[in-house]
Amino acid sequence: MKIAVIGGGAAGFMAAITAKESKPEASVTIFEKTDKVLAKVKVSGGGRCNVTNATFSIAQLIKNYPRGGKQLKKPFNIFNTNHTVNWFESRGVPLKTEADNRMFPKSNSSQTIVNLLLNTAENLNIRVSYKSKVIAIIPSDKGVNLSINGENMFFEKVIIASGGSPKTSGLDWLTKLGYAIVKPVPSLFTFNMPKNPITALMGLSVPNVITSIKGSKLKQNGPLLITHWGMSGPAILKLSAWGAQDLSKLNYNFTVQINWLGINEEELRSQFISLTSSRKLMNNHNPLEIPKRLWHFMLNKLEIAESQVWNELAKKNKNRLINMLINDEFEVKGKTTFKEEFVSCGGIDLSEINIQTMESKRHKGIYFAGELLNIDGVTGGFNFQAAWTSGYLAGKNSTL
Ligand SMILES: Cc1cc2nc3c(=O)[nH]c(=O)nc-3n(C[C@H](O)[C@H](O)[C@H](O)COP(=O)(O)OP(=O)(O)OC[C@H]3O[C@@H](n4cnc5c(N)ncnc54)[C@H](O)[C@@H]3O)c2cc1C
Repeated sequence: MKIAVIGGGAAGFMAAITAKESKPEASVTIFEKTDKVLAKVKVSGGGRCNVTNATFSIAQLIKNYPRGGKQLKKPFNIFNTNHTVNWFESRGVPLKTEADNRMFPKSNSSQTIVNLLLNTAENLNIRVSYKSKVIAIIPSDKGVNLSINGENMFFEKVIIASGGSPKTSGLDWLTKLGYAIVKPVPSLFTFNMPKNPITALMGLSVPNVITSIKGSKLKQNGPLLITHWGMSGPAILKLSAWGAQDLSKLNYNFTVQINWLGINEEELRSQFISLTSSRKLMNNHNPLEIPKRLWHFMLNKLEIAESQVWNELAKKNKNRLINMLINDEFEVKGKTTFKEEFVSCGGIDLSEINIQTMESKRHKGIYFAGELLNIDGVTGGFNFQAAWTSGYLAGKNSTL
């Protein structure tokens, strides 16, 4: 049996290795259009490769995928984060978990992951054909023909793992085969707030905020980081991922609402009862869970004098302060890619595939894996997890 894998990324390597280990007599070739494989793995996670996430319950795991979460439930029953950890550790690459659940190789170097995938493929006699761009796929009754560098090659099975594309036109070669494509748009970005005075607080992190997009139901929580161009941190990145399609339609001009304390108005008002009976200076006495610099920024913005004492705070200013603490608003004008971690949402519509086998419903013998599918996760190792899972399933099922 001849199996072709299109794309030498994380999903392609996992698919090729799984196929060859499941059926050692099969001939497996990875076709990679550039002269490098695993380029994204190498640069991922700031050169450390955030391989997966220590979220071991499938019910929790799927909540980290704005697109594809529900559909990934069945694939995760077969290959999930537990399997990923075992897969790497049993092959001699121990992983470690950081405080926020992100998992990295203990070596702290993505090269360890690249080496493992390359060496495993080599030991299994998987062929890697570089500078081999697949430009057309021609399905037939017996298998699939691929057009590569002016040559037509026949394979019984083909696994397409060619990665995400920032533009729909990048997927034309698949649209031609009739596949429905969800328009790709960027996911995982930070918010630009040009010239907003809040940017003077750059570098400041607020531990637990609730972020929402005004006029929509989009809401997230977690730490927020103020940057020199606007806002970042998990509470913003998660919002950008879940709102990827909506925010693209708004051309990245919208209002973000911040609840700096992550509590509701009733709770805050009850805290204010004891606060406003205090004779301390507001400027010095900040009993709320927000950093001192932000507290001073707020008092300044509301023009509350440094000499103001808590128990003399006018009702109007009390209400304005409460509103700012739980419903602060900022205009967003544009976005910035998060640490170059460009992830696209969109791609092959999941209705086109059998999600348990990754096989195309349109053409028998063609399988899909990785970011090419309309699946994407929030930051934290979830995108690689989707690549390992879909690659594993495509590889395994291609040999059956
Ligand atoms: C800078 C950066 C950092 C990241 N860090 C993390 C992280 O730490 N954790 C995480 O979970 N996710 C991370 N991501 C996301 C993650 O890298 C991707 O989700 C993942 O690499 C997708 O794997 P893939 O195999 O589907 O696609 P890719 O890695 O994009 O591989 C696809 C391959 O197919 C090749 N190809 C495309 N078309 C053809 C064709 N027609 N013929 C032949 N070959 C073709 C491409 O050249 C490429 O090598 C990061 C992304 C970036 C950009």
